[in-house]
Amino acid sequence: MREHAFSVTLPEQWGEGIVSIPAGETLDLDVRLESVHEGILVSGTVDSEYVGVCGRCLTDITAPVEVEFQELFAYPGEEETDFEVQDDHVDLETLVRDAIVLSLPFQPVCQPDCLGLDPNTGEKLTESTGAESEAPIDPRWSALRQITDQDGTAESRAAEKEES
Ligand SMILES: [Zn+2]
Repeated sequence: MREHAFSVTLPEQWGEGIVSIPAGETLDLDVRLESVHEGILVSGTVDSEYVGVCGRCLTDITAPVEVEFQELFAYPGEEETDFEVQDDHVDLETLVRDAIVLSLPFQPVCQPDCLGLDPNTGEKLTESTGAESEAPIDPRWSALRQITDQDGTAESRAAEKEES
């Protein structure tokens, strides 16, 4: 069993969402390599920082991310596997990238109770302004409003047809 701690600088951006790990960011890795019958069991943690914008108010955000990963790298054999020991080496890039990218928040927020933007003015809401503003329509119901709107259009179209 061997343990390694090392840092790498990302040559390219990881992640395509509204937050990502930018090129040039440092990844700090703690990796444990264990020899097992079928190959090498790799486990460890990676620490870094993601940057992007709050999904509600578009404020720039930077936040730490720490992810654990584990994968068996099999010795080359008859069966094809996703992860293989090649020339006595294990290539951790895909493993670590997938672990990090999948852990990035889909809807990041600058703070858990971020009130987002005022739908009328576009200004960022604060505690005081947020209380006075009308609550935006729950996104889960906004689809229903579209249906109502479409019905309205359909009805008026039908009415126009009857008239002509
Ligand atoms: Zn926010």
